[in-house]
Amino acid sequence: MGPVNRAHIFALAFAEITAPSMTIHTILKMGDPRLLRVAQPVTEFDTDALHLLVRDMFDTMRSVNGAGLAAPQIGVDLQLVIFGSNHRNPRYPDRPLVPPTVLLNPVITPLGDEEEEDWEGCLSVPGLRGKVPRWSRIRYTGFDPYGDPIDRTVEGFHARVVQHECDHLIGKLYPMRVRDFTQFGFTEVLFPEISATEDD
Ligand code: ZN
Repeated sequence: MGPVNRAHIFALAFAEITAPSMTIHTILKMGDPRLLRVAQPVTEFDTDALHLLVRDMFDTMRSVNGAGLAAPQIGVDLQLVIFGSNHRNPRYPDRPLVPPTVLLNPVITPLGDEEEEDWEGCLSVPGLRGKVPRWSRIRYTGFDPYGDPIDRTVEGFHARVVQHECDHLIGKLYPMRVRDFTQFGFTEVLFPEISATEDD
């Protein structure tokens, strides 16, 4: 057994010690009507149930290398999204890092009318990618799980991730935003170099 394998086994054992009740939720797929709802605002902050939900969502997102995850994707009807990571995402290896964030009851305001198109995938739309127009610069506000306000002005990939995740809170999946369906297809065809290791 090489050092890599030993390190891996140690990491697994460590994960079991530190997260005895780690929960990976099933991610709903496009076609499930629960993905089409307008989500309810969070009204109670800093509760055990909310912190547990957030932890489970991070476990679920990391288990599938997601760039973000919205509560409706695991069937929870709340305005809650998570996104970002301290590590580069193998599904989006060339993208800048977005800080790990939990965002509740978000409000997005576009800054200017500039848009940009780029490829997106979605854990609820596995195996596909499409080019999606998004606002280039946005301000987003909302709350963290403790009820403290979040207020950020961002652009580029960070802005795209936030717009994608918050769309899940109004029942929109990225294919509904695609304008040019010649720029929509299977990941394994469009990006054969990622599909070998990632099946998003
Ligand atoms: Zn998505």
